[in-house]
Amino acid sequence: FSSLELTEHFIKRIDALDSKINSFITHTSETALAQAQAADEMRAQGDKRPLLGVPMAHKDIFCTQGVLTTCGSKMLHNFVSPYNATIVNGIDKAGMISLGKLNMDEFAMGSDNSSSYYGTVQNPWSLDRVPGGSSGGSAAAVAAGFVPVTTGSDTGGSIRQPASFCGLTGIKPTYGRVSRFGMIAYASSLDQAGSMGRSAKDCAYLLQPMVGHDPRDATSIKHDIPDYVQDIHDAEAAAGDQPLAGLRIGVAKEYFSNGLNAEVEQAVRSALQQYEALGATIVEVNITDPEITLATYYMLAPAEASSNLSRFDGVRFGYRCENPTDLIDLYTRSRSEGFGPEVQRRILMGTYALSAGYFDAYYTKAQKIRRLIIKDFDDAFTNCDVIASPTAPTAAYKLSEDLDPASMYLGDVYTIGVNLAGLPAISQPVGLNSEGLPIGLQLIGQHWQESKLLTTAHLFQ
Ligand code: GLN
Repeated sequence: FSSLELTEHFIKRIDALDSKINSFITHTSETALAQAQAADEMRAQGDKRPLLGVPMAHKDIFCTQGVLTTCGSKMLHNFVSPYNATIVNGIDKAGMISLGKLNMDEFAMGSDNSSSYYGTVQNPWSLDRVPGGSSGGSAAAVAAGFVPVTTGSDTGGSIRQPASFCGLTGIKPTYGRVSRFGMIAYASSLDQAGSMGRSAKDCAYLLQPMVGHDPRDATSIKHDIPDYVQDIHDAEAAAGDQPLAGLRIGVAKEYFSNGLNAEVEQAVRSALQQYEALGATIVEVNITDPEITLATYYMLAPAEASSNLSRFDGVRFGYRCENPTDLIDLYTRSRSEGFGPEVQRRILMGTYALSAGYFDAYYTKAQKIRRLIIKDFDDAFTNCDVIASPTAPTAAYKLSEDLDPASMYLGDVYTIGVNLAGLPAISQPVGLNSEGLPIGLQLIGQHWQESKLLTTAHLFQ
């Protein structure tokens, strides 16, 4: 196919079907078609970049120069970014073509895309189910065949959980691996961008132009960058009938705890047996009680969010209330009208945790527990190479079940520890439940081991 044919195919499909899914907030079809034509010419002149002319789309959390960047919020309903996020530049430079910006939970706070100002997103596997969140649009767009790969961001599971709900693979890299410059901040010490696609190899392709040190992000780290796709090919070439021989997979009973749906548990356990059949050995490890991890996350993430979101004041950019009577009225009404209920709840929780009277009791204590969570992972990794778990306790649920916030937070129980420890993790599909909905398995790696996760997931598929 030429890039133009491919791009036209995807745009046609989006135009015909996205009214049912609602995965896109903004379309950039016209520029995409022009870029596709240019890509075909470059290819004809001998340009060999592997991703040249391949369509993709970005979660609307990434700043895109000259293109609306809403972060799923009324607060940014009119924000056209004056610059590109570093990852957007990297993907542009690889020659990929963005078809637009994808729906998401408001400011990436949520697990089912229901907090978006732009409406809920339907799961292509079953339109009455949620696609997961917060990168719900990124997952639904790939699952619906609108684009082969998408970018996402993951603060507590927002790449892995929607990948699991939509039958995809999604990888959250090591903290510091991918620049956060131009990715609208939720909880800066946890946020990390990553890729989503139909397979580990597709994720590897898109991850490559995203990674690397960036002087514009002080938490981005200089570290060797492997060639992810080449590593997959090498592993495949070296594979015998036991391609995963020598791999030690840690399994923690804490990850098979109360609240885990029986069919999800069964699918994950049978995937682990298949891993054994491929040569891996299962070893028992211990990690921090996920309920403690969950409480720690829901203290720290809102605290950081309350600080990060203070920049949205109705003055510099974004939504401003009508006819403010004075400065305080301007701040108060712009924020009350511009932020949705989930975001306001997080700001309230975070401000409380950071307030002078409660700082030590909540914030400092949560920071100390975070240290212990990291140590428990370090200890577990002395006995294994990767840790396996369900990605989420359930498959995609119906929105009408109308979860209260605390129950929704419980759905993050297996994914958030990874962010608190800055570790890389991947979610891969391992089967369907009796309703035909996908189930995901999470593999957690040691710092900088994205290649091991991608290769392992690939050899399993
Ligand atoms: N569901 C989690 C939250 O609402 C994680 C979100 C994310 O990773 N961005 O905080």
